[in-house]
This record gives sequence, structure tokens and C-alpha cells, in this order.
Amino acid sequence: MKLVIATHNDKKRLELARILSPLGVTILDTPLDDVEETGASFEENARLKATAGCRATGLPCVGDDSGLCVDALNGLPGVYSARFAGAHGNDGANIKKLLDLLRNVPPGSRAARFICAVCCAFPDGSEIMVRGVCEGEIASDPAGEGGFGYDPVFLPAEVPGFTMAQLSAAQKDQISHRGRALALLCDRWKERL
Ligand code: IMP
Repeated sequence: MKLVIATHNDKKRLELARILSPLGVTILDTPLDDVEETGASFEENARLKATAGCRATGLPCVGDDSGLCVDALNGLPGVYSARFAGAHGNDGANIKKLLDLLRNVPPGSRAARFICAVCCAFPDGSEIMVRGVCEGEIASDPAGEGGFGYDPVFLPAEVPGFTMAQLSAAQKDQISHRGRALALLCDRWKERL
């Protein structure tokens, strides 16, 4: 079976393809430009991307929306994570803005979580919607070269002393919001067959 992935973020597409590989599906890139993220929630944005790709191709399409929610910032950057500092996807500027805002927030009060909603839209109009969460806190300085986005400043609770950017891809998949959401998607996909 063919499955379309609705993202132009190369690193994200690799993560998605890697984690969905047990499904044995052929993964295709979306023919669409990026869909505007106008939804008020991760789920709404994931659905917008999945349904647009499904409509355009006539194939099942996976869309995801994810972001970082910081308690001390009342849940920000949330659905604005990619464009927190203005330009879309400027990871360095986003991290700088985050660390500046948290400058006076001490360790222990910097709790945060990555959230990922994944929607798979099917040509018959049905969908699978799942959500994964990864709890942690924001480091005071960036560390590590792996991953993308806010990974260098996110300390996952399950791997004390390391940022997400210091983990291998396989370690990240095990605990990440996207890994968890996609594992649920794999389960639900198999139930559907
Ligand atoms: P979107 O899901 O493509 O809209 O991107 C959301 C933004 O959230 C990304 O540009 C990153 O800034 C951030 N983000 C989402 N997932 C991750 C992750 O696994 N690591 C680090 N940052 C992430």
C-alpha cells in the first residue's frame, strides 16, 4: 500500500519514514506546497495537512503537527513553535527567544513537554488521530548536535542529564512525542486492516 507523508521538513520526513517502516508501506512525498497551519490545536493542524494531501493524491496521507509547550510560559510556544521568533523554522532564533524568556526561571520550574498529533486521512473520509507526549524540562544552555528544532535545549525526563539532541535517532524515537504518536498510529493502522 502507498502512503503519502505531508511534510517538506526533511528531518521530520526521515523520522516519520523510519518509525512507520514496520507497516511495510511505500512512502511517497506530498505533491502539495506546505499547508498553512491555521488551526488552534495540534490536532486541527495535523488534520488540515492530512486531508489536503489525501484529497490531492487519492491515497492515505499522514500529517503531523508538533511543538513544545512550556509551563512557565503558559503553554507557549505551542502551535507557534516553528515560528516563535518570527521566521518559520529558524531553530537558532527560536531557541534564543525561549532561553531569553526563561532567563529568570530556575531549574525545577522549567517543566515542558513536546506534543505531537498525527492524523492519517483515508480516501473514504475516515481518519486515525493519535497524540504522543514527551515530558521534560528546558536546559539553561543548548547541548548536542542531533535532532532538530528545540532538541538542544530539551532535557527529556526519561534520560536524565542529556538533551534530546545528545541522543541517537533510535533513542529519540523510543521516547519522543512523535515516536509515541506514530507507534499508536501503527497499532491503529494494523487494527484497521
Ligand atoms: P511543525 O510540526 O512542522 O509545525 O513544527 C513544529 C515545530 O516544533 C518545529 O519547527 C520545531 O521547532 C518544534 N518541534 C517539533 N517536534 C520537535 C522535535 O522532535 N524536536 C525539536 N523541536 C521540535
